[in-house]
Amino acid sequence: MGIARNVLLWASRNRWIENQFRQRQFAKKAVARFIPGEDANSALAESKRLNDRGITTVLTYLGENVSSIDDARAARRQYEELLDKTHALQIDSHISVKLTQLGLDVDVGETARNLEALAEHAASIANVVWVDMEGSNCVDATIDTFRKVRAKHDNVGLCLQAYLHRTPDDLEQLLSTRSAIRLVKGAYQEPASIAITRKQDVDAAFLKLSTRLAEQPPKGPGIRHGIATHDMKIISELSRLGAERQWDRDAYEVLMLYGIRRLDQLRLVDAGVPMRVLVSYGEAWFAWYVRRLAERPANVGFVLRSIFMK
Ligand SMILES: Cc1cc2nc3c(=O)[nH]c(=O)nc-3n(C[C@H](O)[C@H](O)[C@H](O)COP(=O)(O)OP(=O)(O)OC[C@H]3O[C@@H](n4cnc5c(N)ncnc54)[C@H](O)[C@@H]3O)c2cc1C
Repeated sequence: MGIARNVLLWASRNRWIENQFRQRQFAKKAVARFIPGEDANSALAESKRLNDRGITTVLTYLGENVSSIDDARAARRQYEELLDKTHALQIDSHISVKLTQLGLDVDVGETARNLEALAEHAASIANVVWVDMEGSNCVDATIDTFRKVRAKHDNVGLCLQAYLHRTPDDLEQLLSTRSAIRLVKGAYQEPASIAITRKQDVDAAFLKLSTRLAEQPPKGPGIRHGIATHDMKIISELSRLGAERQWDRDAYEVLMLYGIRRLDQLRLVDAGVPMRVLVSYGEAWFAWYVRRLAERPANVGFVLRSIFMK
């Protein structure tokens, strides 16, 4: 894929660039397009507004790669409070977590306990926990941890990335246990040995895997497969296939990110497509934000100018 995308994905992991960017006056304003605020209340208020418009949400507390058990437990507590608030405010929203935020780089066993605790907490209020997929070095541990927790709780779902060569196999294995899958194209920098690199090939893989998901619903309360993309060509093609093959309306839901393709989100929900929007909040927005910029590399000049010029 493009050089600009690679530069941005490299920048998303660079501390110096992060510090420079955070000091810029306009940084918070620029980030506000994708994140309603740093605190949970802003994310909950936006969720409520979206719910009122017929769109459900999935909430993410930003953060990844924590380096201590205490930080991992603090993230888990943050999510438990978030679940309680969605319940108290009657907001229709799942949560989505990164396993490196629950301790994957520090202690895999502790990470599984954190995820299991969240699944139990969510089950007690009839809610659902999604697990994000991160860089390819985390995929084995993420799938293993997910499978352990999914064996006891069916209110959990897992994100898989269509660009990875391994994903068709992972998807088949997970479908054999009727797990719920959220399919994405993939947001990280991966070599050709691990991931498909031509965009049209990623798009084709995504469509093929989405079709497979739509034909095999998951088992679990209040959970559907998620087709997570802003690619309207793919969404239209899936609708066409659904009508032709008489898929259930509930066969999948479409997911998009907060702030991206807002009008299409409304058009889809008005056309009867189940629509869920991922709303993020938290102070650790830098890496997440720059991955969003990498999805639109036309923004690279703007970002670099902001970093190197006063
Ligand atoms: C709900 C959700 C959860 C996700 N979770 C994960 C995850 O756990 N792991 C992971 O690796 N990735 C995740 N992603 C990101 C995903 O991998 C892609 O990087 C991202 O969705 C962009 O790809 P696309 O499918 O929208 O298609 P693209 O072909 O990249 O985009 C299609 C069109 O959508 C618009 N668009 C896309 N992105 C942007 C943007 N950032 N800003 C403005 N316009 C844009 C553009 O008009 C573009 O032409 C998630 C995405 C969503 C929607």
